[in-house]
Amino acid sequence: MAKCDQGYLCRICKQEVEKLSESELYLRFVIGEIDPETLHLSSECHLDCNPVLAQFIDDHRYASQSQVPEGFRIEDLDPQYVTQRKQLVTRGFQRLLEIQANRKAFSQVQDYPLEEFKRRWR
Ligand SMILES: [Zn+2]
Repeated sequence: MAKCDQGYLCRICKQEVEKLSESELYLRFVIGEIDPETLHLSSECHLDCNPVLAQFIDDHRYASQSQVPEGFRIEDLDPQYVTQRKQLVTRGFQRLLEIQANRKAFSQVQDYPLEEFKRRWR
């Protein structure tokens, strides 16, 4: 993946992150939390290995198998924050699926982020 389409290793479980749609790093990139300048310096991680983030994915194509630590569960958080976070993180996940299914349209990594975050980096 990333530059050379070769898998990068997850910083948590040390296994390869094979698909874009399982990458926590790229999800955070498409939702504007990672600067494109530092993307390639940041370490990869499976969404499953970051359940605190992954719990906000509200899409049947993603099924989390990990336990969220107490204090960070959706039930423990402010409902308004949860609603907003779910919307954003879910869109991010769907964006990854879109990119994965349509690599030609996303030949540049700069095109990956959601529209509103693309603008931010220009
Ligand atoms: Zn992992």
